[in-house]
Amino acid sequence: MANEEQLNRTLGNVPGAGAVYSLIDFIDGWARKYSIWPIHLVTGCCSPEFMQVCGSRFDMERLGILPFASVRQCDCIMVVGIVSRKMADRVKYLYEQMGEPKYVVAVGACPTGKGPFYDSYSVVAIDEYVPVDVYIPGCPPRPEAIIHGMMQLQEKIVKERRLGVKE
Ligand code: SF4
Repeated sequence: MANEEQLNRTLGNVPGAGAVYSLIDFIDGWARKYSIWPIHLVTGCCSPEFMQVCGSRFDMERLGILPFASVRQCDCIMVVGIVSRKMADRVKYLYEQMGEPKYVVAVGACPTGKGPFYDSYSVVAIDEYVPVDVYIPGCPPRPEAIIHGMMQLQEKIVKERRLGVKE
């Protein structure tokens, strides 16, 4: 962020800089939109739906969404299924290790709002621990709903203006 502010201060008054920034923003957004790498993190019984969207029938990879094993290369956490208080600390720990920009998608009624375990002493809604960008309801959500939720995240990414330059 500091570098972006410095860049804005340095080049903000240069004629045509706004157009250049807009172009960079567009390319940056387009590239990030089609290269979301969610970390493998399946915490509950929504997992078969996650397997479905990763498999050949629904094929999330055709949208550029590729689950990946190393948190340091990932830019997204799909919290798939029920999260206990104990596990939520681990989710937060993983989230903090990821580089910016990073996104969180709550998949299923449990991480969205505790689902059927709303009165449990140990189940938490994941937005109590990390900021959530997209909520996908359902118990479990169908693969189509997960794909739709990830497309909503793509729309959000492409609308971001990372350089924050005025036209
Ligand atoms: S939302 Fe339903 S299917 Fe998903 S983890 Fe919770 S109880 Fe299981």
